[in-house]
Amino acid sequence: MPSAAAAALVVTATGASVAESAPLTLDLTAAQAQTARDQAATEVAEQADLSTRRQQIAIQTAALQGRATEKKRVARNNARVAAAAKAKAAALAVAEAKAEREGKRWVSPIAGAQFTSGYGMRWGRMHYGNDFGTAVGTPLRAMSRGEVTFVGRHGNMGNLVRIKYWDGTESYYAHMDSFSAHVGETVMPGDIVGRSGNTGRSTGPHLHLEIHPNGGGAVNPAPWLRAKGLQ
Ligand SMILES: [Zn+2]
Repeated sequence: MPSAAAAALVVTATGASVAESAPLTLDLTAAQAQTARDQAATEVAEQADLSTRRQQIAIQTAALQGRATEKKRVARNNARVAAAAKAKAAALAVAEAKAEREGKRWVSPIAGAQFTSGYGMRWGRMHYGNDFGTAVGTPLRAMSRGEVTFVGRHGNMGNLVRIKYWDGTESYYAHMDSFSAHVGETVMPGDIVGRSGNTGRSTGPHLHLEIHPNGGGAVNPAPWLRAKGLQ
């Protein structure tokens, strides 16, 4: 009996211990499982978080690289635009300098004409210009860059064109047949302003040329023309 009782006790004890320990073991396992699940969930969450962060970094990196590439592209484009503008400005400066030189050239008002009469007293009266005999219709050209100041009839001078040049000198072309310029027009050296004729007080087809420095009185055209290398 004692052995049986002991056995029962043992059994009981075992049973009790089993009975008591089984839920405990189950509880531990459940807790462990929960812990494992929690850990797994945490790991998954961490992985997901890490993945998200990596993605964000990748996006940010791409954005930064994109911005850097865009910045480089803009910088290259700006440099190209600046270089083009600089080249254009340089070309413009050259063209302007050339135009300036061209505009300040002096050319003869008439080609192939015969000098027939000079500045000075003639037949008891003052002759204020040089006469160049030429056929009616010979082109008359602006001597340099200037502005046309008069186009029309003017007493004894007949049909007259006056041009005020860039240096202040004014030229008179008298006895003209026709005009091809108007008052206020800017002319360049060699521009045709009309054609020679025999209008006004004239004894034959010719150009009467007067030179008025700075809009003042007429001077002898011969030395003035020579100084410009025109005669
Ligand atoms: Zn004359």
